[in-house]
Amino acid sequence: MPMTANYHTHTKRCGHASGEDREYVEAAIRAGIKVLGFADHVPLPPGQGTGPRIRMEPEQIGDYFDSLLALREEYADRIELHIGFEAEYFSRSFYELQTMLADWPCEYLLLGQHFLRDETADFYIGRPFDDPELLERYTDTVVAAIETGAFLYVAHPDIARFTGDEAVYLAQARRICRAAKEAGIPLEVNLLGMRELRWYPRGLFFEAAAEEGNKLILGLDAHSPKHFTDREAAEAMRDGLDFAESFGLELVRELRQ
Ligand SMILES: [Zn+2]
Ligand SMILES: [Zn+2]
Repeated sequence: MPMTANYHTHTKRCGHASGEDREYVEAAIRAGIKVLGFADHVPLPPGQGTGPRIRMEPEQIGDYFDSLLALREEYADRIELHIGFEAEYFSRSFYELQTMLADWPCEYLLLGQHFLRDETADFYIGRPFDDPELLERYTDTVVAAIETGAFLYVAHPDIARFTGDEAVYLAQARRICRAAKEAGIPLEVNLLGMRELRWYPRGLFFEAAAEEGNKLILGLDAHSPKHFTDREAAEAMRDGLDFAESFGLELVRELRQ
């Protein structure tokens, strides 16, 4: 059964994605997607600094919703649109983040923990590292994020590029898997990582998931409309399904929010 829902779609507002909102919607329809969720990188709350530009500014939230709400209406008979954000869990400013979003019809958050505190002061966790303490801090952050109950699912839960001991990695991966299981939320098999042959999805992480019995979900993490429609997209969707199946885990097709 092909992939019919994708909750992980970016827009050009984050500064490193391309294409118009409408092009994403039309590409998704062409790819056979029935439920399309936009989850662009959420802005840092006002006063929380600006780092390397990897996200929209707070002033762009209005345009994000205006545009997507209009498209939701226009394409209502062809695709179901949802609007959320991909967010980091920064405990110091999470309340401010939620306050900022309370003004908008935001339906969901995906957890995408690329940094531990914030990108102005911190290390991108996708750079190779072998310090077990850093891996533990990453894990603590993701577990705390899951425990807030604020996230629909964990995007690329295996983004930490730990190059050290595999037993250490597995032990920390298991903590994330257990927390997600307890919270009842799926773990993403990230298809952008798959199509770009990144270090994730990492089989070792999903071995831990298989032991814990997690639910999985496929996420295109689309940063371009072609991430729905080109040959690599079709391959990544197929490979993602095979990957999930190889661990014998349940694949969630659609989420009720
Ligand atoms: Zn991105
Ligand atoms: Zn993403």
